[in-house]
Amino acid sequence: MVNETAEKNFTNWCYRVGIEAWAVDVDDTLCPTGPLFRNKMLQACQLISGNHGLELELCQKTLREINDECYRTHYVNPLRWGTVMELVASKLDLSRKTHDEALGILMEIYNTPIKLFPDAEEFLAFITKIQFPRIAVTHADSDWTGKKIEWLGLYRYFDPKDIHIVDMNGPKGPDEWRRAFGRRPSCYGGIGDSRLSDARPAYEAGVEWFFLINRNTGIWNLQQDVDVKDIPGLIYIDSLRRVKELDFWHTENLVKRPE
Ligand SMILES: [Mg+2]
Repeated sequence: MVNETAEKNFTNWCYRVGIEAWAVDVDDTLCPTGPLFRNKMLQACQLISGNHGLELELCQKTLREINDECYRTHYVNPLRWGTVMELVASKLDLSRKTHDEALGILMEIYNTPIKLFPDAEEFLAFITKIQFPRIAVTHADSDWTGKKIEWLGLYRYFDPKDIHIVDMNGPKGPDEWRRAFGRRPSCYGGIGDSRLSDARPAYEAGVEWFFLINRNTGIWNLQQDVDVKDIPGLIYIDSLRRVKELDFWHTENLVKRPE
């Protein structure tokens, strides 16, 4: 049951600041994708370390650095791991068997079921119940996104036409955000975890209010290595419950929260 006052206050607040719809990122905003990557990367490094008698930390540093480099050319395409492992194998002088096994572990990322964060489930249920317009803007391989939609039950909260998949072979930039919008960009309240792929490009696309959530995944440093201090309507949050409770906030205080 949705509390009618909460519903009314939330809706009033949104309309007061000009938000007519929500645009929500998926990975590490709605579900713990980063920890899944971190676990599989750790397992791959443990295997490499064990098979070749190498320091675990060296294996982790090498894999992380090469993966970050390859993100800049391959973005979120899962085939990136093939290139990453070729480079890791060459740098650490790995056997073909170790290379193949480590690659197999990394590719398990895309077959491991994942669940919604509890606060994400609450928020989605709330805006669905009150029928507030909403879209999802996700950046991933479309096959994997199809699986995530099922695992997360996203069709309970989003019309299929409102789940927008950004091409895995390019960035999630302003044009990609803009393409997902069915109305004026400034009508959307944005929610996401990445400065590089969410807050900065959504702002450049015309979104005026952006809620940047910190999930503490500690894995995608390059996703956070972007200055967002000049974005006036950027709000830092630690839970999506904060968005649901907007009725308790004073709009005039919703500016430039400390990092
Ligand atoms: Mg994300």
